[in-house]
Amino acid sequence: PCTDFDMAYFHSYAHVGIHEEMIKVSPILGIEFVLVLDRARTDTYRAAIMQHQSSIAGKVVVDVGCGSGILSIFCAQAGAKRVYAVDASDIAIQANEVVKANNLSDTVIVLHGRVEDVEIDEEVDVIISEWMGYMLLYESMLGSVIVARDRWLKPGGLILPSHATLYMAPVTHPDRYNDSIEFWRNVYGIDMSAMMPLAKQCAFEEPCVETIVGENILTWPHVVKHVDCYAVTISELETVTTRYSFKSMMRVDGTQRKKRTNPNEALVLSTAPEDPPTHWQQTLIYFYDPIEVEQDQLIEGSVVLSQSKENPRFMNIHLEYATEVQTSVRMERIELR
Ligand code: SAH
Repeated sequence: PCTDFDMAYFHSYAHVGIHEEMIKVSPILGIEFVLVLDRARTDTYRAAIMQHQSSIAGKVVVDVGCGSGILSIFCAQAGAKRVYAVDASDIAIQANEVVKANNLSDTVIVLHGRVEDVEIDEEVDVIISEWMGYMLLYESMLGSVIVARDRWLKPGGLILPSHATLYMAPVTHPDRYNDSIEFWRNVYGIDMSAMMPLAKQCAFEEPCVETIVGENILTWPHVVKHVDCYAVTISELETVTTRYSFKSMMRVDGTQRKKRTNPNEALVLSTAPEDPPTHWQQTLIYFYDPIEVEQDQLIEGSVVLSQSKENPRFMNIHLEYATEVQTSVRMERIELR
């Protein structure tokens, strides 16, 4: 039977964008795409594995969602006794070939199935996983890491990454607004501003995954959710609620920003706008009509992130905000493509 998830999948092919993308991608674009390797992500994982080599060497590891197998192979290179590389996607077939081609079949055992379903007949010392989605929690894969932890991790075992934090901040991005909306005010000398309501709806109805820079940020960020991977539960991820209060500084001085300290000297994979861009980019919610903000102006409100009831891989974002001059409520929804 065709499940809701299948329907969402087929639905994604009903969007012109996917066909446009498939037809337009030229060889040159293809080459560019190959060159955009996500070094920050993979480098940070490899550095973390090497930093924890003493906890990995001679130990049993499970890689939750191994994909191509790269993190499992790093762990094998760090001296792991055994690595269970689990993936439910057919990419597990290639992962197995990659493991073979690197003569690691004795160490890395590829299990093609969901971590919720596969059997591992021993406790593990280490869980490694790259589970983070857009806006950290999108895709809801963290639940599978929790399942693996509760099924197999020894007391005192290691989880990489150990913690994750989702931040939010008010931003200004006038160029984007001008490109998509103001553009229609004068096209070839024609007043096409009648297009503007539709343009706002099409551009900003859903959250946008885009790259911005530190200069777009109006003030210090607010912690929406801090996740301790050792303690987090599946039920606390179903709904995340936070109240925020920002005082606009108009922009945060770059030199101040660089001074952020890291007391534990822990390795951090940052997707912050002031750090090098990653494939996660930033998730932006644009107001249909930008609000005017002055120095020291308060922006207050709340955010509720909830897993969609229809498809738990999706997320609903409910954002409320109030400024000194206006109050508004907005419902947002982010969809998987
Ligand atoms: N570890 C790889 C791939 C990360 S992408 C890397 O770092 O490059 C996440 C992978 O997790 C995908 O391949 C996806 O198929 C897999 N995945 C997600 N949920 C899963 C689950 N419940 N069980 C098994 N695999 C899962």
